[in-house]
Amino acid sequence: MQQSHLIKPLLDADYPLADHGKGIFIYDSDGKDYLDACSGAVTANIGHGMKEIIDAIQKQAEKIAFVYRSQFTNEAAEKLSSLLAEKTDNHLNWTFFVNSGSEATETAIKIALQHWLEKGKPKKTKVLSRWMSYHGITLGALSMSGHSVRREKFTSLLEDWPVLEPPYCYRCPYGKEFPTCGLHCAAHLETVINRVGADQVACLIVEPVVGAAGGAITPPDGYYEKLKSICEKYEILFIADEVMTGCGRTGAMLALDHWGVKPDIAALGKGLGAGYAPIAATMVSDKVMEPIQNGTKSIMSGHTFSANPLSCATALAVLQLIDSEDLLSKVEEKANYLQKKLKKLQSEFSFIGDIRGKGLLIGMEFVKGIEAKEPFPREFIFTSKLISIAQKNGLLLYPAAAGLDGRHGDAIIIAPPLNITEDEMDELCKRLREALLELNIDNE
Ligand code: PLP
Repeated sequence: MQQSHLIKPLLDADYPLADHGKGIFIYDSDGKDYLDACSGAVTANIGHGMKEIIDAIQKQAEKIAFVYRSQFTNEAAEKLSSLLAEKTDNHLNWTFFVNSGSEATETAIKIALQHWLEKGKPKKTKVLSRWMSYHGITLGALSMSGHSVRREKFTSLLEDWPVLEPPYCYRCPYGKEFPTCGLHCAAHLETVINRVGADQVACLIVEPVVGAAGGAITPPDGYYEKLKSICEKYEILFIADEVMTGCGRTGAMLALDHWGVKPDIAALGKGLGAGYAPIAATMVSDKVMEPIQNGTKSIMSGHTFSANPLSCATALAVLQLIDSEDLLSKVEEKANYLQKKLKKLQSEFSFIGDIRGKGLLIGMEFVKGIEAKEPFPREFIFTSKLISIAQKNGLLLYPAAAGLDGRHGDAIIIAPPLNITEDEMDELCKRLREALLELNIDNE
C-alpha cells in the first residue's frame, strides 16, 4: 500500500478501509462486513445510508451550505433549535450550536461563568466535576474530565476540576452498598462545596451515564435528584453532559429525564447528527440566559461553523426520523432483550464481572476473579485484545476505562444503532460470544 499521510489513532496499526455502510453494518474495501455494536463512537444512532437524511443533506446543500452566524441566521438552525426546545419541554429554551462534544462542554462552562459574571457574582468561577468522567479532549474539556489516561500527557496545562467520586456501585469508592449507603457519593458534594466555598463555585458538570471513562456507569435512583438539590441549595449551575447519552440513546431525549431532573445547561453531540454531519450543541435554560439577556446580550463564544446550515439540516432530519419511526419508545424493550442475552453470556464466561447501563448504552466490565473483582493485569491488555479480535471477526465494540483510577480495569460499551432489530441483536451476541471464546481465558 502507498504511504499514508493521515495521522490515525495508532500510527503503525493496519486499519481496514471503510467503503460503505448500510443499516447497522459497515463494509470495508474487501467486502467484509462489520456489525456496528457501538454506533462507531456511540454516534451513528440510526445506522448508515438512511435515505431521508441523505435527501435532507442534498436539499440543504443545493439551497446553501454555509452562512456565517454573525451575518445571517438560517432556517435549518432556527428550526432545529425550536425542535430541541420542544423536546426538552421548553426548559432548555436556548441552543448554541458547535461542532463537537468538547466544544459543547467548554461552551457550557463559559456560559455558566458568564451567567454569574453578569449576575454580579464574578467570584463564582470554579468548575466541579467527577473522577471517572470524560467531557472532551480540548484543554477546558479535558480539565473537567476525570480520565487519568487521557489527562496524563497534559497535566501541566490542565485545571484540577474533578473532585467528586463517581457513583460506581460495582466498586463503591466508599466501600458502601446501596441503599444503606444513603447515596454518600452524592451527599459528599455538599462537603466539597463547603470546602471550596459556594461563593466561588460556578457549576457542576456530570455525564448522566458515564461513558468512555467507566463503561456505562449508571447511578442508583435518587442520586441525580440529590446532586441537583444540593446545587440549588448553594446556587450552583447543574450541567448535564449528554453528549453520549442524549438524543435518544437511553430511550429519552436526555438521560436525566429518566430521573425527572432538569439541568440548567446540557451539552449534546454525537447522536445529534448521528454521524451524518459534525454537530453538537449547548442548550441553556431561561434562568441561565436571563442575566445575559438583560446584560451584554451576547454569549462570548462561537466557531466559524457554529449553526452551519448543512449540519443543522442534517440533525433536524435525524431527530425527525427518530420521531417518525418512533424509535425512542422501543429502546427499553430492545435494551431488555439485549441485556438478557448479554447476561446469558455472563453465565457462560465467568470473567464478565458486571453488566450495567441505561437503554441502549450498555457497559460490560471484565475481571480476573469474579468474587474479588480483581482486574486483569495491565500487561494483559484485555480490552484492546477483545476489541481487535472482535473487529477481525466482524464486530465493532467501544473501549472504556474502568476501575476507580481509570487505569486498572477493563470494560466495553455496547451501544448499537437504535433501529437494530432482534435478529441483528442475536447476531451481535453470537459474534461477541465468538470473540470472548477466542480470548482463550480459563473460565474458573
Ligand atoms: N462528552 C462525552 C460524555 C463524551 O463521551 C465525549 C466523547 O466521547 C465528549 C464529551 C467529547 O466529544 P467530542 O469527541 O465530539 O469532542
